Amino acid sequence: MEQADLQTILSDSRRIVFFGGAGTSTESGIPDFRSADGLYEQRTSKTYLPEEILSRDFFMEHPADFYAFYRTHMVYPEALPNAAHRALARLEQEGRLTAVVTQNIDGLHQLAGSRSVLELHGSVHRNYCMDCGLKYPLSAVLRDPRPVPLCTACEGIVKPDVVLYQENLDTDLLDRAAFAIEQADTLIVGGTSLTVHPAAGLVSLYRGDKLIIVNRTPTPLDAYANYISDGNVGDVLGSLYPR
Ligand code: ZN
Repeated sequence: MEQADLQTILSDSRRIVFFGGAGTSTESGIPDFRSADGLYEQRTSKTYLPEEILSRDFFMEHPADFYAFYRTHMVYPEALPNAAHRALARLEQEGRLTAVVTQNIDGLHQLAGSRSVLELHGSVHRNYCMDCGLKYPLSAVLRDPRPVPLCTACEGIVKPDVVLYQENLDTDLLDRAAFAIEQADTLIVGGTSLTVHPAAGLVSLYRGDKLIIVNRTPTPLDAYANYISDGNVGDVLGSLYPR
C-alpha cells in the first residue's frame, strides 16, 4: 500500500491505539537488549544471557552483576524521542489517539508529550526500596557509586520498577490495555514482532478493521493487516507530520 493510504486510514480515526516494542526506540539509539552480549561471571565461569540476567532470581542472587548489566544495557539517560514518539504525541493532542501501550521501559513517549501511556514492563524512571518502599528517580540509581544502589533511609536494596522475567505483569495495567485495544477504531503495531507474552494476546483483542503493522520482521498478525511496512517506525509515522 502507498503512504497516502496510511494518511487516509488515520485521518478517519478517532480512537487510535499504538502498541509498540523495542523497534520504536531503536531510532533513539536504544538497542534491543536481547541483542546485547551476556555477562561473563568469573566466580562461576559461566556466561549469562540477557534474559537470565533480567530475571527475578538473578536479581535476588546477584544484584551487583544485575546492575552492571542493567546500567550498561538497559538505561539510556541521554536518549531523546524520535519521529515516532513525536507523531504519536501529536495524534493524542489532536484527540485521535486514546492510548500508547508499550513494552519499552525508556519513558520516551512521555518525554515526547504523550500522556496516556501504559508501560506494560514498567519504567527505568521509577525505582523503589524493596524494604521500606521509598521511591527514587533514575538519577539516584545511576549516581549511586556502590555496585548496588541502596536506600538512603534504611539501606535496603533499590529495585527498578521494571518487570523482570519470572515476575507478573500488573493486572490493572493489562486490563486497561485490553480495554483500550477493544475500543480502538485503529490499531497500530510498531517495532514489535509480537512474540513476547502477552503482546500477541492483547493485540488479538482488537475488533476493528484498520490494523497497521510497522515492523522490520514478519509478525503473526501480518495476514490481517490493512497496511504493512517493514520500514522504521520513525520513518513511517514521522511521515504523517513532515516538518
Ligand atoms: Zn528503604
